[in-house]
Amino acid sequence: MPLTDEQRQEIETERAETRPTRRATVLALEEILYEAIPVLDHGFVRVIDYMGDDGAIVQAARVSYGKGTRRVSEDRGLIQYLMRHRHTTPFEMCEIKYHVKLPIFVARQWIRHRTANVNEYSARYSILDNEFYIPAPAHLAAQATTNRQGRGDVLEGDAARRVLDLLREDSERAYAGYVEMLNEDPAGNPVDASWPGLARELARMNLSLNFYTQWYWKTDLHNLMHFLTLRADPHAQYEIRAYADVMIDTLRRWVPLAHAAFLEYRMNAAAISAPGLKVIRRLLAGEPVEQKDSGLSPREWRELMTVLGR
Ligand SMILES: Cc1cc2nc3c(=O)[nH]c(=O)nc-3n(C[C@H](O)[C@H](O)[C@H](O)COP(=O)(O)OP(=O)(O)OC[C@H]3O[C@@H](n4cnc5c(N)ncnc54)[C@H](O)[C@@H]3O)c2cc1C
Repeated sequence: MPLTDEQRQEIETERAETRPTRRATVLALEEILYEAIPVLDHGFVRVIDYMGDDGAIVQAARVSYGKGTRRVSEDRGLIQYLMRHRHTTPFEMCEIKYHVKLPIFVARQWIRHRTANVNEYSARYSILDNEFYIPAPAHLAAQATTNRQGRGDVLEGDAARRVLDLLREDSERAYAGYVEMLNEDPAGNPVDASWPGLARELARMNLSLNFYTQWYWKTDLHNLMHFLTLRADPHAQYEIRAYADVMIDTLRRWVPLAHAAFLEYRMNAAAISAPGLKVIRRLLAGEPVEQKDSGLSPREWRELMTVLGR
């Protein structure tokens, strides 16, 4: 995650400043505010700002005037109740803003989440850095044979070297072409005065999907948890999961009670269909049940048995 000295200095300056406020603040999140948490080879997640805490969820649910004199155990119980019964609007009272640096192909998946506010680094206005994602060897895998969307066995030896060489060579060639087409030195003057170069907004189309982009991404707690449920799930691609995992840790720091309820009632919970429930009831009654007489497809059966740990 190479930050320039100037960027590091800006972060340090922000972190050194404190501001008096009557609003709720969360010490554990303040500790990492503005810091760049590394993700993948050049990416990061930074928490830039937030509004609300666990208390804000409770306050909104009760529509109360202040903190009141409740105990933490009461707040925990209420937050668990809201999560369990999908009473979602109190969670929308809390907001968080991230600065994320991520490969373009991850950004394409991420941007599908429409319930957020996004401002992306403009490659029409600025020049993109020579930073592209190359998977670590452990994540360089073949196409899965059982799942058209997933990965299979990790590549090894010559196969891994061949792929890594191709990825690196193609990316370097693409960036060299980008720079040549821009025809600009660091001061913005033409490198080759015999031609004007190509506009930034056009030259960028030469770059491949593994180049890094950046954005500010702001959302509320309800939609953040929806995003994390989908993107920290094992079915999500490893690269976006790497970001979601880091963000789950920021959730833990920010709203520990909501985070615990999120793990219990969303992330580590399971939705069971009506035929699935019938199977469970039959199993509990001691009946032998097989996929063929379960009313479930082989795939649904496998998924249910995995959930049940059988
Ligand atoms: C494992 C995985 C595989 C995927 N594969 C594909 C794929 O192959 N192809 C593909 O195109 N996408 C794919 N997606 C993207 C997926 O279909 C969703 O677009 C993405 O996860 C965003 O989810 P969302 O719409 O619930 O989120 P958000 O956009 O944040 O919306 C949150 C919720 O708000 C509501 N909402 C938001 N906007 C609207 C609207 N306009 N109308 C009605 N309700 C709305 C919905 O209830 C929605 O669930 C995949 C996602 C995952 C996690």
